[in-house]
Amino acid sequence: MTSFLHETLAGNTAIALPYCLPSGAGVQVMDEGVIRFEPQEGVKHTCDVVISCGVHGNETAPVELVEQLIEQVCAGAIKVRARVLFIFGNVAALRLGQRFVEEDMNRLFSRTPDVEDGVEKRRAAMLEMHVMRFFQAGGEGRSRLHYDLHTAIHGSLIEKFAIYPLPKPNKSFSAMEIARLSLAGVDTVLLQSTTSSTFSFFTSRQCDAASFTIELGSARPFGQNKGIDLSKMAAYLQGLIQGVLPEPELVPAHVQIFRVSREIPKKSTDFKFAIDGKTDNFTPLPVGMVLAVDQGESFVVTESDARIIFPNPDVPPGQRAGLIIVPAHHLPT
Ligand SMILES: [Zn+2]
Repeated sequence: MTSFLHETLAGNTAIALPYCLPSGAGVQVMDEGVIRFEPQEGVKHTCDVVISCGVHGNETAPVELVEQLIEQVCAGAIKVRARVLFIFGNVAALRLGQRFVEEDMNRLFSRTPDVEDGVEKRRAAMLEMHVMRFFQAGGEGRSRLHYDLHTAIHGSLIEKFAIYPLPKPNKSFSAMEIARLSLAGVDTVLLQSTTSSTFSFFTSRQCDAASFTIELGSARPFGQNKGIDLSKMAAYLQGLIQGVLPEPELVPAHVQIFRVSREIPKKSTDFKFAIDGKTDNFTPLPVGMVLAVDQGESFVVTESDARIIFPNPDVPPGQRAGLIIVPAHHLPT
């Protein structure tokens, strides 16, 4: 039997009426690469979970993981005791094995649609609609989770890490959510300091979900992901689907939490990094180091224990060419 992923990549999306698995769980294909499972009527469930991957089409390890989860659910190997929406984000780019077709989709959420929108902008707007509907239909009072799974185009000194979207003004970062990530094998968390145009920021703000962008290793083509160990993440997600929502109260001592100290602005085409643009994520930066020069102006590291993340000198002027992060010694409230 061919998988939902294979059918999707082959362009065989059949959007039909919902049907039931032999176990009684409901299935509905919502859109190309978007499939929803719901527990059998009468089964008590406490959480609504969105598991997305492939927002960047060359990041295949999480796509393979999600494909396996869908297959396990369809085969009855995992019982559905939570509402779950699986999303293959950028199907057009997945077909090409490329990060994107026209533009980076993870910078295109929370915007106003326009008639001139290209493939990624239209897809982002559709995904927003699907997650809004999914969470709304679940109703109030249940835990809402969204894990947007990625692999990094960069090398990284820390293989797995999560980006925690900035909460609404009246909310704070949750220790329990960070502790849950640790159960999934993600022991490093970067707290966002600004609003953002990512998928996880959208669901965090607009759907009131506990949302994370999760980086799980480095990006490789399909079938070449053996070096990435996703067993803890797989077990955690299998648990969630089966209705097991752990409630750890304390963040384990080994978990590292960082916050953004500053963005590295690229103001003009004169911008030059003093470091290699391929520098690994989380590389330490010494105080006093000239990190970049732009129009004769130096950008100097002033923070102690600083590290760099997402260095990219090739972004268009006006965007950030990287972030300086520092340890967060306690969760801001
Ligand atoms: Zn990505």
